[in-house]
Amino acid sequence: MYIIKRIFFTLIIIFTATACKELKIPGKIFESSERSKYERSFSGADSLMAQWKSSFSSAVANRLMVGESNAFTFFANQPQQHAVGYSLELKKGDQLVIEASGMTPPAKIFVDVFEPGTDTGKAKSEILENGKFTRFTETSGLHKVVIQPEIGYRNSFEMKIYTQPSIAFPVAGKGNRDVQSFWGASRDGGGRSHEGVDIFAPRGTPIVAVTDGFITRTGNQGLGGKQVWLRDGILGNSYYYAHLDSILTEGGRQVKTGDTLGRIGNTGNAAGGPTHLHFGIYTTGGAVDPYPYLRKRSIQASGTAAKLPEGKWIKSGTNLRSGPGTKYEILSTINTKMPVEILTAFGSWYHIKTADGKQGFVQGERLQK
Ligand SMILES: [Zn+2]
Repeated sequence: MYIIKRIFFTLIIIFTATACKELKIPGKIFESSERSKYERSFSGADSLMAQWKSSFSSAVANRLMVGESNAFTFFANQPQQHAVGYSLELKKGDQLVIEASGMTPPAKIFVDVFEPGTDTGKAKSEILENGKFTRFTETSGLHKVVIQPEIGYRNSFEMKIYTQPSIAFPVAGKGNRDVQSFWGASRDGGGRSHEGVDIFAPRGTPIVAVTDGFITRTGNQGLGGKQVWLRDGILGNSYYYAHLDSILTEGGRQVKTGDTLGRIGNTGNAAGGPTHLHFGIYTTGGAVDPYPYLRKRSIQASGTAAKLPEGKWIKSGTNLRSGPGTKYEILSTINTKMPVEILTAFGSWYHIKTADGKQGFVQGERLQK
């Protein structure tokens, strides 16, 4: 009897488990984003959630722009809680970095990055892990970044949005100024275009692995002369180093970022010319411009967090600009003194929302009590 009972219960467990599995299939589709998970698990007032969702939608829809390196203060201590959304131009190969610091108490920050041409209805939200989010850029063009702290977080904090190279620089001790021939430059009297960049350095300068991976082959042939091919284990890209004076690695070898692979020279069709490295990147889709992958860039230092200004009205005749600077277009001019909410501060520029729902950037001197 006991054994029969046991079998019976086991069958029930198996049946229940199977049933659950099947029920989970549609659930998984909705669970794909951190945002929708959060929305479904939120147990507070519906009105708070409705406001949270609508501020996300208006951040997605606005036309605000920022540059490639930004440090700003996010004021979540407003009467209304806001999401902020900014567009920025990214190139394939850029590593996008989004960082938050100074949150008290610590809170979740949701980040959505919409690629060019993405349906903005399909949010693929993520959460800043340990205050940081990085993302490799696959498609060149205007990307939209939307940032929103969780419901109930009522304080200011600092944020950075910037890009970094996604690989190491291929020539030891050299930098952007040594790249003197770019992607697409005409070759052989217009017969072909340059499928890489040239980095100039004295003969013998070490060339290094731009990423962890393995050497697929080395050789001495054709236009490239002495050459090394490195393959990336993660992205599956091939990195091509040409015109070397000497090769200091061999096919099949595992390498780490920064390992020396050879020395700068002028072999192949560079013979007789200045010594340089020709560097190319070949993805599964073909050759791509290596410059955004390797260009070195500085990061804005963390400043002290800006204080929420006391003046929360804008003066009559204020231009709302699409970005934090006079180089950005004027979206509209506000011809009356009007109360505003202040969402962020980029130095002396403030992202504001007017009482009638317009968003834009104004200079601090346009704010008054
Ligand atoms: Zn070249």
